[in-house]
Amino acid sequence: QVRVRFAPSPTGPLHIGGVRTALFNYLFAKKHNGTFILRIEDTDQNRYVANAEQYIIDALNWSRIPYDEGPGKGGGYGPYRQSERKDLYKKYAEELILSGNAYYAFDTAEELDFHRNNHQDKGKTFIYNWHNREKLNNSLTLSPEEVQEKINKEEKYVIRFKSPVDEILELNDMIRGEIKIDTNVLDDKVLFKSDGMPTYHLANIVDDHLMEISHVIRGEEWLPSLALHVLLYRAFGWKAPEFAHLPLILKPTGKGKLSKRDGDKLGFPVFPLEYTNEETGEVAKGYREDGYFSEAFINMLVFLGWNPGTEQELFNLEELVEAFDISKVGKSGAKFDAEKTKWFQHQYLIRTDDKEIAKLLIPVLQERLGDSFDKDLDADYITKVVGLIKERATFVADLWDLGNFFFTEPVSYDEKAVKKNWKDGTGDLMTELSEVIEVIPDFTSEKIEKTIKDWITSKEIGFGKVMQPLRLSLVGALKGPQLSDIAFLIGREETVKRMRSAVE
Ligand code: GLU
Repeated sequence: QVRVRFAPSPTGPLHIGGVRTALFNYLFAKKHNGTFILRIEDTDQNRYVANAEQYIIDALNWSRIPYDEGPGKGGGYGPYRQSERKDLYKKYAEELILSGNAYYAFDTAEELDFHRNNHQDKGKTFIYNWHNREKLNNSLTLSPEEVQEKINKEEKYVIRFKSPVDEILELNDMIRGEIKIDTNVLDDKVLFKSDGMPTYHLANIVDDHLMEISHVIRGEEWLPSLALHVLLYRAFGWKAPEFAHLPLILKPTGKGKLSKRDGDKLGFPVFPLEYTNEETGEVAKGYREDGYFSEAFINMLVFLGWNPGTEQELFNLEELVEAFDISKVGKSGAKFDAEKTKWFQHQYLIRTDDKEIAKLLIPVLQERLGDSFDKDLDADYITKVVGLIKERATFVADLWDLGNFFFTEPVSYDEKAVKKNWKDGTGDLMTELSEVIEVIPDFTSEKIEKTIKDWITSKEIGFGKVMQPLRLSLVGALKGPQLSDIAFLIGREETVKRMRSAVE
């Protein structure tokens, strides 16, 4: 039974690295008919940010990688917020003390500072481990009576893990293979804090065990904790899950980890949804608000670390579930590429049904046109416009820039283009042509094109002399799809009207 979890700490908005971890967990779960769990790791009260949990849930829903068990959804292994499980952890820490795998440490912050500053191995940092623990203020050096006395006096203490000495651990990672760690380099990590809360390490292991997690898939930044985690499972006598540590996501330059600030600096979103920092009021861009489709976002995201080993680049979610293979995830950092992200969006836009896009375009038109938005505008008409221009668009909003003239007559004419293309005599030509267009019997795109061509040929003038001014008349600039298509769609009356207004 595959059970995986995404276990974010609600310390702020989820950035794309977090969503990628969630996505890989989701894909792995679905691929193996397993369960995808959301667990909120909120034991560090100092770093808690209100709304972060809701942001995480909204981001997963928008990305269409919903969880099967978790806050708000339930499941047989709850509660799924660690703050609601906090009474559970202490007994596990105490169990480790009884089995000799952990100990009380009473050192104050000042004492620890003193040791750090007066460390006898100059140049080496002081580590709280086998090397030094005998000299420190803990239950390994104090008598059981002294320990009991301190506890009775309510002296503050933490519980530390007693890392084994002189052992080479052979760890396994589904992506990285075998990793050897010398236990002598490990420090005795705090498992239980003086504020009565477990640390990440203890809570994470206890919950993964109680929630019967079979595979832990998480970011590379947790690889240094792997040895401790495996040792904790061993100390408890529990079977450890399998582990996979996903490669870092790097800045577009490849130099350094992609940070939450890079997006703002370089002009691309790093968050799935827009995020407002309630303290500073700063707003950071989101993929959703920038107009990305979640399908494109997910498709871009999966390639940050994974590839199918074939040429195929476009995968919908079902195809991803089918193709995803955790052993094909790379070890080395994956460069984030903002241009490639846009490319994915473009691919999804041009593959989306024109009718669907038309629906998304309506609010854009309403916003841009304001009062002059025509409520009777035919859905079919918008759909046809979309079909003509979407090839050149990346976002739905681009369709306005590419095709605003389908919805409103030109309010101005591109000056440079006018200067170059509107000569003496052009006005007369346009007037004459407008009379020809006015009486085309069968007003279809083909007929319009043929009529204009025949007329130009009969006049023995260059095509550019007519086509460019005609385009300026209908569009206001030298852009847009084929003229006969424009004329056909806006209709005979509107075409003639625009030609005449241009002449004036
Ligand atoms: N709470 C940790 C985080 O914020 C979870 C790490 C893990 O998956 O073990 O990333």
